[in-house]
Amino acid sequence: MREERQFYINGKWTDPVEGTDFAVIDPSTEEACATISLGGKADAEAAISAAKATFPKWSLSSKQERLDLLRSILEAYTRNRDAMGEAISQEMGAPIDMALAAQFGAGFEHIHDFINTLEAFEFEEEKQPGTENDRILHEPVGVCGLITPWNWPMNQITLKVIPALAAGCTMVLKPSEQSPLSAILFSRILDEAGVPAGVYNMVNGDGPGVGTVLSGHPDIDLVSFTGSTRAGIAISKNAADTIKRVSLELGGKGANIVFADADEKAVKRGVLHCFNNSGQSCNAPTRMLVERSRYDEAVEQARETAEKMTVDVASKSGRHIGPVVNEAQFNKIQGLIEAGIKEGARLVAGGIGRPEGLNRGFFVRPTVFADCTNDMTVMREEIFGPVLSMMPFDNEEEAIAIANDTPYGLTNYVQTGDGAKANRVARQLRSGMVDMNGKFRSSPSPFGGYKQSGNGREGGRWGLEEFLEIKAVGGWAPGK
Ligand code: NAD
Repeated sequence: MREERQFYINGKWTDPVEGTDFAVIDPSTEEACATISLGGKADAEAAISAAKATFPKWSLSSKQERLDLLRSILEAYTRNRDAMGEAISQEMGAPIDMALAAQFGAGFEHIHDFINTLEAFEFEEEKQPGTENDRILHEPVGVCGLITPWNWPMNQITLKVIPALAAGCTMVLKPSEQSPLSAILFSRILDEAGVPAGVYNMVNGDGPGVGTVLSGHPDIDLVSFTGSTRAGIAISKNAADTIKRVSLELGGKGANIVFADADEKAVKRGVLHCFNNSGQSCNAPTRMLVERSRYDEAVEQARETAEKMTVDVASKSGRHIGPVVNEAQFNKIQGLIEAGIKEGARLVAGGIGRPEGLNRGFFVRPTVFADCTNDMTVMREEIFGPVLSMMPFDNEEEAIAIANDTPYGLTNYVQTGDGAKANRVARQLRSGMVDMNGKFRSSPSPFGGYKQSGNGREGGRWGLEEFLEIKAVGGWAPGK
């Protein structure tokens, strides 16, 4: 079995000081595929101290140096495509074709976009015309603690590490202990690309062991976190004593409002989107609200789509969905499906237990509930599995009210043939993102949420600015 106990600290692969062995489980087989080490306080502190020591130098690096580094990271990342797809597929269960395309591809796209963003970004600018003795300087925020989840591992790691490098920050990455293999490969890629020693450090570990050291440490200037709202709250509290910046990308419970005049494929598209990545996406459209005149037909289409969806092991080629990430997640989803049934939602497809023919592996049946009400557990809690909850609505106002009646506010969706209605609804939805009629925001675009879905924005210039301080200077000597 693969042994991957070392951490990447100060440009070297380093043995843990306080490591505890941790088995990485392949969710398709329930068997261990690698052993990593979960670090402790001493490991996290060694990485923080390397990042702190390197900050003065890296913060003064030129835009050209940073662009050269990002370009060579993109080349090394591209060379490692197959290995990256395989690592992601094995550790978190994304089917191999999807891991090679969407999962690997998300990382590629972000690195590529940040190169363009950095090229266009002005780190020093005149405040406004006529203020030539004033300057606004955009400077790196400092040493960053980056904490990421397992569900789109390269998407989330590149959305943090790449803009932090572009800004001139130094950093410690703590990837999810559920998806460490892709993060280890990513660290090798950065090493291969020539990242200067100490600028980027990576320590494996869990929340209590390494995550809390990062969020509470006085030498960490910013924590950028993607994960559950539960952990986001704990991190914010732990960070409060040192007044560090905390940027949060948390959970979601997206509504997909399907009006009667939506295109024919709207329902099927919504179901497939909800089940993509086995439902393990923070922006999944998990609450489908359908205008009453089209509701029965929509429930029937959703049932058909769910029943046609195949579930299989991640190593197989094809367009199926894979298992969910681990046993805890599997059990949590089963409990939520049970809650849906108990609370009176109508089960139209799927249900409790594994799909037929799959007795081992954390496989969940693609499940659809109809006739939900917005107070039901399946409409309120983020399930993070292939489970769709449907309910009817009677008018535009009611649809908006149901969509907004959630503590989350990440992404909402609107399906209608009426452009004016689409725009009107988009303006009233309380979420960081709205996608309409199957058209996604073009890239790069700010990704982030309102309310308990977080407070940060990742991607493009918005994501770069998260890693920058603003300095206002008076008495500037122009042209010097
Ligand atoms: P999680 O919160 O359990 O873990 C995320 C990361 O935080 C892991 O690295 C974990 O080790 C670490 N962690 C856990 N507790 C911590 C603590 N107290 N202090 C510091 N670090 C801690 O989440 P998960 O199960 O890995 O991921 C799923 C969640 O992530 C879902 O809620 C999903 O919606 C959310 N998510 C959000 C976005 C977004 O951009 N909004 C994107 C992807 C996933």
